[in-house]
Amino acid sequence: MRIDLHTHSTASDGTDAPGELVRKAAAAGLDVVALTDHDTTRGHAEAIAAVPEGLTLVTGAELSCRLDGISMHMLAYLFDAEEPALLAERELVRDDRVPRARGMVAKIQELGVPVTWEQVSRIAGDGSVGRPHVASALVELGVVPTVSDAFTQDWLADGGRAFVAKHETDPFEAIRLIKGAGGVAVFAHPGASKRGRTVPETAIAEMAAAGLDGVEVDHMDHDADTRARLRGLAKELGLLVTGSSDYHGSRKTCVLGEYTTDPEVYGEITRRAFGAFPVPGAGGV
Ligand SMILES: [Zn+2]
Ligand SMILES: [Zn+2]
Repeated sequence: MRIDLHTHSTASDGTDAPGELVRKAAAAGLDVVALTDHDTTRGHAEAIAAVPEGLTLVTGAELSCRLDGISMHMLAYLFDAEEPALLAERELVRDDRVPRARGMVAKIQELGVPVTWEQVSRIAGDGSVGRPHVASALVELGVVPTVSDAFTQDWLADGGRAFVAKHETDPFEAIRLIKGAGGVAVFAHPGASKRGRTVPETAIAEMAAAGLDGVEVDHMDHDADTRARLRGLAKELGLLVTGSSDYHGSRKTCVLGEYTTDPEVYGEITRRAFGAFPVPGAGGV
């Protein structure tokens, strides 16, 4: 059995449509594939409708989280996609653009600059409002000469006086919400240090105590030492160990099934989950 528990489709930042992705997964010789788009289950219906014979689809998502200023990802499997609390949190993460921009406008106003929300939304037009639009408003008001001059600590740079962070879920809250929706929670690529600071082992231990089910160990962003360390930690904490490609279509170099999950671990995930069931292709089990 070849099991790949982490892939992305065009529902988030992958390049294969969900239906195309499941067909490619079957063609790549996978028995099980999980669709785990960032903060959305939008691709589930198309993937479910297209599962080919011989493949089983695991529905999931990869939730954007942050702990003590460190961004991290939490994989969620087989949760009930309609469960209201987890659904609201996914929407909050996705639909955070407007409140975030409004928050930056409010901070700039507090700094004595007469910027308005109407001005920023006029600048954004039909586009989804973001930091560059707020920066353009500062240019219009003559506060800074150019947009890039607004991206400093005085104004909108990360950590700047008028900066507002993106909404990301506290991982302990994510675990609680995933479990509450009948799902299984697996910390994605916890040792991916190339992406920035990583969460300390003490925090992973606390997450394990809070109900975390597993850690993704076999992943392209982990070198051999990191994998060995995480495997040891998982054993110590009684966590499941998964492996996966984190496939993004042509956006990244990895191929489907580049890393895989042990069938016993997969079996345990399906036993723990009660929010949704794996979807076998026609004639599958
Ligand atoms: Zn990730
Ligand atoms: Zn991912």
